[in-house]
Amino acid sequence: MTQGDIQTVKTSKGQEVKVHTHLFINNEFVPGHGPLIETINPATEEVICSVHSADESDVDAAVQAAKNAYKDTWRKLAPAERGRLIHKLADLMERDKEEIATLDALDNGKAFWIARDVDVTDSIACFRYFAGWADKIHGKTIDTTFDKMCYTRHEALGVVGAVIPWNYPTMMAVWKFAPALAAGNTIVMKTSEITPLPLYKLAELFQEAGFPAGVVNIITGYGATTGAYLSSHKGISKMAFTGSTLTGRKIMEGSAGSNLKKLQLELGGKSAQIVCADADLANAAVHAHGGIFNNHGQSCNAGSRILVQEEVYDKFLELFIAETKKIVLGDPFNDDTFQGPQINKAQFEKILNYIKIGQDEGATVALGGKRWGDKGYFIEPTILTNCKNNMRVMQEEIFGPVVCIATFKTIEEAIEMANDSDYGLAGGVYTSNLDTAITVTNELQAGTVWVNCFDVFDQSTPFGGYKQSGFGKELGKYALQEYTQVKVVKIQRLGL
Ligand code: NAD
Repeated sequence: MTQGDIQTVKTSKGQEVKVHTHLFINNEFVPGHGPLIETINPATEEVICSVHSADESDVDAAVQAAKNAYKDTWRKLAPAERGRLIHKLADLMERDKEEIATLDALDNGKAFWIARDVDVTDSIACFRYFAGWADKIHGKTIDTTFDKMCYTRHEALGVVGAVIPWNYPTMMAVWKFAPALAAGNTIVMKTSEITPLPLYKLAELFQEAGFPAGVVNIITGYGATTGAYLSSHKGISKMAFTGSTLTGRKIMEGSAGSNLKKLQLELGGKSAQIVCADADLANAAVHAHGGIFNNHGQSCNAGSRILVQEEVYDKFLELFIAETKKIVLGDPFNDDTFQGPQINKAQFEKILNYIKIGQDEGATVALGGKRWGDKGYFIEPTILTNCKNNMRVMQEEIFGPVVCIATFKTIEEAIEMANDSDYGLAGGVYTSNLDTAITVTNELQAGTVWVNCFDVFDQSTPFGGYKQSGFGKELGKYALQEYTQVKVVKIQRLGL
């Protein structure tokens, strides 16, 4: 049903949510001049609704609104007041948690209860964490000589441009909104064209919370047009990007070819989970399972390579297969669903093709390997064994519910295999030996290393990659550095 630009969308269980489908610029929902984009329910392959997209004139309007807001209101507002508004937004998200989670689940295919209890709950916590920082961002006074005073200011950058992927449609946006706004920046956010709906709900809440016009602008559009134009826009001071390494390169080109805007890139990964012979294998099987199969394997940090020490390989595999067999696939709105569909047809076909590539390379399908059901983009959780590090399935990001298992003899060999990757987003080690844990955590070339667990996040701990997984940290106090620049002021004392 349509009412103005508002569509009523419906879940398989009959719940209805009203959502805007126009661009959110300068605190108003306005028609876009780009092509209409159909957003598809990956569980049914049916169109949910169409949304407006931004052409260059819409991007210009959004950037101008953000520039004006930065100059006239946001940078002049007391930091504590910025914090209060962000807290207000978090309160409204708490109130509308179910609706936001419904849109996340409908558009992306993730289980509704996980969208509510993880994605949206953690997003609220992230806003609250950075709301608390808003009035605690300050510089230092530095003693130099007796006749001078010197101090630093941690100043906002201006207008931040953000481009996000489809795998965590709400959370990836909030990881950028929260530190950017707390630090005093205004923002133009481009949602993924594949999952635009949750952020249009969030736009409504920014409006209701009372954010000044232009502080937050939310648009959607295709990457090659809207995204590319935004990342080469001269009115943008910084691009915060999450997505593939390939697109990350293009964003860098956009910056290099325009105004050398500051960049933060959160890119792909091929993270290794190392299971040592002395590990608590039952614990390792549970955490390694979540490490790869959470979010249907569509996580940048997915522990998609499992390296197991030879002497415990059979036992670990038995436990891991048993754990994987417990996965319930199905309608994202069923209470017991853990795994919904993959995001779209292209990803679905790409993942099935990788399973075939793995087999052609000599890997064995120990579990799964096929489509699940006959409607929607579901793929069985798949375990490939007999993998070698030089296989494509061990080197390339599959971004689906497919894990590759290989064996190793010594810890040194495991570290070498784990580091033999273009990526460096995350890694993990399962061991009961403290020395092994310290050796592996020190040696892995990865931005996050988990010990005896995996995929554990908190808004207070930084996250970001090494190597071709990108640079810059999201979350935690470190994220504030990404959204501020340091000015040094030196004052001469006259009359001495
Ligand atoms: P993608 O790179 O295809 O798209 C991401 C976003 O970039 C989308 O909004 C898209 O419209 C936009 N885009 C595409 N081409 C563009 C261009 N030329 N200029 C500007 N913008 C452009 O990635 P995806 O398929 O949406 O997401 C999956 C990828 O994201 C995976 O590689 C995954 O590892 C990565 N990811 C990384 C993290 C992290 O924190 N490191 C988190 C989530 C996802």
